[in-house]
Amino acid sequence: MTTFTHEFSTPAYKGRTSFNTGLFINGKFVEGSDKTTIDVINPTTGKTITKIAEATPKDVDLAVEAAHKAFETTWGLNMGGSDRSRLLAKLARLMEENQDELAALEALDNGKTFSWAKNVDTTFAIDTIRYYAGWADKIHGQVQGDGREEAFIYPSLNPSGQIIPWNFPLLMMAWKLGPALATGNCVILKPSEFTPLTAIRLCALVSEAGFPPGVVNVLSGYGHTVGAAIASHMKIEKVAFTGSTLVGRKIMEAAAKSNLKDVTLELGGKSPNIIFDDADVDQAVNWAVHGIYWNHGQACCAGSRIFVQAGIYDEFLTKFTEKTKSLKVGDPFETDSYQGPQVSKIQYDRIMDYIESGKSEGATVHLGGDRKGEEGYFINPTIFTDTKPQMKIVQEEIFGPVGVVIKFEDDEDVIRQANDTVYGLAAAVFSQNINRALGAAHRLKAGTAWVNCVNQLHANVPFGGFKQSGIGRELGEYALKNYTAVKSVQVNLGHRM
Ligand code: NAD
Repeated sequence: MTTFTHEFSTPAYKGRTSFNTGLFINGKFVEGSDKTTIDVINPTTGKTITKIAEATPKDVDLAVEAAHKAFETTWGLNMGGSDRSRLLAKLARLMEENQDELAALEALDNGKTFSWAKNVDTTFAIDTIRYYAGWADKIHGQVQGDGREEAFIYPSLNPSGQIIPWNFPLLMMAWKLGPALATGNCVILKPSEFTPLTAIRLCALVSEAGFPPGVVNVLSGYGHTVGAAIASHMKIEKVAFTGSTLVGRKIMEAAAKSNLKDVTLELGGKSPNIIFDDADVDQAVNWAVHGIYWNHGQACCAGSRIFVQAGIYDEFLTKFTEKTKSLKVGDPFETDSYQGPQVSKIQYDRIMDYIESGKSEGATVHLGGDRKGEEGYFINPTIFTDTKPQMKIVQEEIFGPVGVVIKFEDDEDVIRQANDTVYGLAAAVFSQNINRALGAAHRLKAGTAWVNCVNQLHANVPFGGFKQSGIGRELGEYALKNYTAVKSVQVNLGHRM
């Protein structure tokens, strides 16, 4: 079994990391049953960082067995909510103590900047675990009686499979682990094969926090093998998935064809960002830049369709272009980098194909549209104008630093265009007229509608999609429902037949 050791000596972070790169099953790091490995690539250089153990469907069986055993002996109904709460709070504290190292690992295999990884990803991940620590001793059912009988209604569901993507690796893990562990589930989690480092590192912290073996199992591996085995497993009662709509369909199909396990899906988006002519234009520009370029455009809720009302279109486009030009694209460990590389060669190629399709369908490349540098997977922030509604770059999720700026005339017109997509994850509206802003927010078909801001997420506010952006909600109290099933126990208080 291998240990990954790395010295960071960068402007943004100096420090050392060293951890086992095995699978985490039943509280131990182990090799995959086929003893094969996966290369983890640094997107800044295109070179291999390390090798990690690769799981197979057989390892899924082992993890499921461990999870069932833990649920029957040390977890589930065997550990009270206040003890689960204490463990989650301790995990949050350990994450805080190791936050810089976690942020550096996130920047290393994902390519996001160290400063974003530290100030957003890891901070929010810690907040999420701490938030659910607060819920663990407040999961209760209801008692309903009619004088002759009482029914106790309480949750039970176990174990949960969790499959997460590469764009916010640690944060997506926290969104999944928090509510599952708070409600007493055991989990079998598969990180993305592109960004497994923080998930593996977190396993050591899970152990150190004192979670019993088998409660958290982490299996690095590929989607078509390990992910598919989780989705179709007969002894997994729930699968929570975040990723593309394409794979989300497969997950649902596998759940339907196996044991009809409960499914929640957080999928893609093509979120509209609507800027009315009575908006504060400078603020709208700042938020629009954050909306599309945050995390290199690799955010499911990215404000990738920027609708600007005709009266302020020219002013907005000029200022938006200037602000975009000022973003530094570069090494994630430089302190002034805003945007690092795209996560992988596959994503880089996909985004460049979209840029080519925009050009060939007749849109104008207003800015960018090309690679940055010779090494790694860097793409210059790109703005398209003169688009048509049915163009691929207007309809499909690009998942890169590519925005389309679209001129609109009136409120009816923009609401119709904004809702004209298969997705419904998020939307944003900019206006200083609260009636107009709220009126639009209510008519947009999106799980989240931001007013005068974009990409704001909080542990206590539910997040999820309408239409083909998903099923169910993560975060907040809502997420607890994802890991619980209602069970009624009816008690006869003495009436006789
Ligand atoms: P992806 O769908 O390719 O992969 C997501 C995960 O699913 C990975 O762990 C992958 O290994 C696994 N997987 C792949 N094929 C599988 C299969 N057949 N069975 C089971 N698992 C399989 O997505 P990605 O490229 O990693 O992530 C980008 C996508 O995720 C984007 O579309 C983005 O919008 C979406 N996303 C959504 C949210 C949200 O909250 N709605 C958040 C982040 C990302």
